Amino acid sequence: MRFAELVEVYEKIEGTTKRLEMTDYLVEFFRRTPVELLDKVVYMTQGKLYPDFVDVNLGIAEKLAVKAISKAYGISQDEVMKVLREKGDLGLTAEELAKRKTQASLFAKPLDIAEVYDKLDKIARSTGPGSQDLKMKLLSGLLSDASPKEAKYLLRMVTGKLRLGIADMTILDALTISFAGDKGKREAVERAYNLTSDLGDVAKTLANYGIDAIEKYHVKVGRPIRMMLAQRLSTAEEILEKLGGRAACEWKYDGERVQIHKYNDEVTLFTRRLENITSQYPDLLELSKKNIKAKEAIIEGEAVAVNPETGELLPFQLLMHRRRKYGIEEAAEKFPVNLFLFDALYIDGRDLTQAPYIERREALKKSVKESDEFRLAEALITDDPKEVEEFFEKAIAAGCEGLILKSEKGVYQAGARGWLWIKLKRSYQSKMIEPIDAVIVGAFTGRGRRSGVYGALLAAVYNRKRDVFTTICKVGSGFTDEDLEKLPEMLSPYKIEHVHPRVDSQMEADIWFTPALVIEIIGDELTLSPTHTSAYGEVKEGFGIAIRFPRFTGRWRQDKSPEDCTTVEEIVEMYKAQLKRIEE
Ligand code: AMP
Repeated sequence: MRFAELVEVYEKIEGTTKRLEMTDYLVEFFRRTPVELLDKVVYMTQGKLYPDFVDVNLGIAEKLAVKAISKAYGISQDEVMKVLREKGDLGLTAEELAKRKTQASLFAKPLDIAEVYDKLDKIARSTGPGSQDLKMKLLSGLLSDASPKEAKYLLRMVTGKLRLGIADMTILDALTISFAGDKGKREAVERAYNLTSDLGDVAKTLANYGIDAIEKYHVKVGRPIRMMLAQRLSTAEEILEKLGGRAACEWKYDGERVQIHKYNDEVTLFTRRLENITSQYPDLLELSKKNIKAKEAIIEGEAVAVNPETGELLPFQLLMHRRRKYGIEEAAEKFPVNLFLFDALYIDGRDLTQAPYIERREALKKSVKESDEFRLAEALITDDPKEVEEFFEKAIAAGCEGLILKSEKGVYQAGARGWLWIKLKRSYQSKMIEPIDAVIVGAFTGRGRRSGVYGALLAAVYNRKRDVFTTICKVGSGFTDEDLEKLPEMLSPYKIEHVHPRVDSQMEADIWFTPALVIEIIGDELTLSPTHTSAYGEVKEGFGIAIRFPRFTGRWRQDKSPEDCTTVEEIVEMYKAQLKRIEE
């Protein structure tokens, strides 16, 4: 089939903004496209050569494209640049220059789609030394045989800027009409797409085997499933009501979503945008190989940066260190991640996407070996809005974004933002602007690199009225190696067997101290906490106040006695001031 026919359709599509007209043009074209070309035509129309999860991408640089145009039409690069400045678009530039070169085209042979696709594929795949020259030659070769209109679209494709404005959903409409008669079967076709993320594959199956084959479509290890997303409501009551009075509440971890595909020893990781990010998470790869018991599995979870010594969750921004080509191993060591699993879509031959949440969670639990680094998301099933709120505050205090409430009976709605998952986030973002002075009342033994020293400290502030010290955070960040080295020695004179009588703590520390050593701590914000005892019940019944993402500022306040610490009154004032700043 001639490339000119495809280009003619693109021209028509470019000339309209109406989705229905676009669909009609596509239908007419898909129907006369030979089946073996159909997937290629679909990818090309999406502006690509493969589905997103295949890492072969077009997108050559402008400079290289200019060189190819100059070679194809036998004019200087300066000349090409001049036209490019006038036209402002490489496609239009190539079209214009192709028109000027009329007589040579007498020798040109017409391009066909398969050939164009193969050449573009070669261009996209060539890497390493000499690849730039090869890309340039392949493109100029194509241009020498192309008509002006063809040249226009070739340039746009090869630079990754086709931008016809056709949504995937329009292509799905057109495929359904072309091969399933009318739009009645649209849902089944879309579902097949959601399960495979591969429009070309759906197109080919539909054209070859009809709608029956599409209805029998199932997930397949190695092909990412388009992810289920959550709706949002603002109160626990509303969400519970929407979900029929009862829901499974899960912590909403603040990291990066990963879909893990395991086939025997082979593991692949995909992002929410279905890109293959296996190379960015060597640590997750190892954890998955080690901890997934199932032979074949597709499971999902959130990768979260953690402090490896304390297990504390760290802010999402730290994952940015993984967005690179080189030095991944170092980044993985410095900023390790834990995985919190929340769904199972396929386990050992069983497609679970239509199974209810409860069953999927059960299957998930059975198919993995849980460890500190690789475990199921915290979850609670309840019908009580108060319990939801408590669980919410716990999640926030631990560094999560909030909760996702899930329908117990809900299926996995691939590719949809439906009402079976509803998130509860905070409607505000607050900021702690000044540090506090807190006294150390306990410590937790360290793990990993911190075994032998303390992993984290339990810090408290002073309640003047009751003359006790109430806990405000567990702090493990901000300490240098020297700090950690000398802490046991600094604290040893104050070590005691039990919690000190003047310390009010609901947390169980591994080691307790007489309140003596004061340090300065800053955090992201003050939050309500169901576990810390500072200002307990003063701003909200059943809650104290805690510091979220606390860290040691590096300042030891040996000049201060424990009674000189920040007081509970001050903490309440700071919390209220924080709320006021949000309202303003
Ligand atoms: P949002 O991005 O605000 O629409 O929230 C949905 C995202 O929350 C998902 O794509 C996941 O990356 C993330 N997430 C964190 N924890 C969970 C969980 N327990 N269940 C589902 N999604 C979660």
